[in-house]
Amino acid sequence: MGDKNVADYKVEDVAKFFLENVDAAIVVDPSTDSYNTIIKKGFLEKYLKESGSYHDLIVDLWFHFNDSNEKVSDDYQVFVDNTGIFKKKYSRKLKLFLGDEEEAHLVQLVVYPLSKSDKYFFILDEFDDDGSLQESLTNTKISTIQSSYLFSMYIDLVNDTTSSINVTEISDDVINYNLKYSEWRLMIVNMIWPEDKEQFLRRTDPEYLKKNFSRGRTASYDCMMQNLEGKYIWVKLIFSRAQTYSDDDYRFVFMVQDINENSVEILSTLKKYEAMAITDPLTSVFNHGEIEKQLNNALSLRKNDKEAVSVLMVDLDMFKSINDNHGHAVGDAALKDFAGILREMAVPCKALVGRWGGEEFVVICYGKNAKEAYALAENIRKKVEYFEFRDIGHITCSMGVTELRDDDTFEEAFNRIDKAMYDSKQNGRNKVTLL
Ligand code: GH3
Ligand code: MG
Ligand code: MG
Repeated sequence: MGDKNVADYKVEDVAKFFLENVDAAIVVDPSTDSYNTIIKKGFLEKYLKESGSYHDLIVDLWFHFNDSNEKVSDDYQVFVDNTGIFKKKYSRKLKLFLGDEEEAHLVQLVVYPLSKSDKYFFILDEFDDDGSLQESLTNTKISTIQSSYLFSMYIDLVNDTTSSINVTEISDDVINYNLKYSEWRLMIVNMIWPEDKEQFLRRTDPEYLKKNFSRGRTASYDCMMQNLEGKYIWVKLIFSRAQTYSDDDYRFVFMVQDINENSVEILSTLKKYEAMAITDPLTSVFNHGEIEKQLNNALSLRKNDKEAVSVLMVDLDMFKSINDNHGHAVGDAALKDFAGILREMAVPCKALVGRWGGEEFVVICYGKNAKEAYALAENIRKKVEYFEFRDIGHITCSMGVTELRDDDTFEEAFNRIDKAMYDSKQNGRNKVTLL
């Protein structure tokens, strides 16, 4: 075919050439949800079926649009039918993965809407050189790092339309979709983390957007949203109203930015600070402020709920002499071990442990009446008595125990525990007193 002069080439030559060289040609009909493969060659021979449902074909191609080896999650597939609508010629590079093959095939997809009908031709052609595949893979990596935008779209509130829903690697071109904005937000809300849904609906409400965005204004907020693979990640949702001349023109750009990595890091730091604010640094049980708050909670729970709650106050006996004889560091180690014993005994019965101060600790026992709390206190007392403390040997502790009453004030409950503790000390220490 290459031996003629340029002037001699005819339309037939062009047709013949394309027939021989195009890797795949498919005719699709969205209205009957069907497609038929007319030509398929090379690896596309295996990749494409003879015919089938257009929806399935788009699902398959869409998964490559998103440039991932993972399947697009079911929730996102509601958008597939809208993705497969083309009003004009459309072209895009795709990376197709055949079966379990690691290596992608780089393919150019061109869509030609057929005039006077709703059908299209899909033409697929594989790039021959590995170079463009490498280049494409590298470019994608760079652009993904540079712009962490998952997708963006144009919204026109007056006409209730959306256009150009880009998924990062899909496209920068404007594509028109048959998706109304009012429908879109009710679909995308399903991808939002359940607790963030209400906020999403409020902030995407057309009336809210009209009222709160002056021309040119941009605002954003963060929430959790499923990515295309169905995993919840932190995203920033950004709305920006176009700087138009008319006040009645409500066009917006909407973007979703992936901020997951940063957010996860910030949240874990916050959690650490949160824990530090309520924990005693030496013994790792609740600090005074927190256990006092928990004691107040227990009192109000006791008033509203009829479940029993009891409180133990635990004080180490003659601890001053431990410090005096062995030094402060040994005393500290003993306090740690002691708190460890309390935690070990309290955790299985869902009790809370806190350091009241110095060598005094509080245990709040939910669901335990006076008798049960007394039994737990006795177990703790015995366990401590027989425990071998590092460099010290044996230490004992004394306890005051009381069951909270539904008409107790904090002071009343505390006075009883204090009195009980005093009695334990008065009666020779290493004792439990219930009041
Ligand atoms: P009692 O049996 O009457 O409770 O005698 P005690 O010596 O335990 O009581 P007292 O209140 O006289 O002394 C408590 C001691 O606890 C004083 C202090 O040396 C020690 N203590 C308080 N906080 C700490 C701490 O954080 N580390 C160490 N090592 N010792 C502490
Ligand atoms: Mg003491
Ligand atoms: Mg004390």
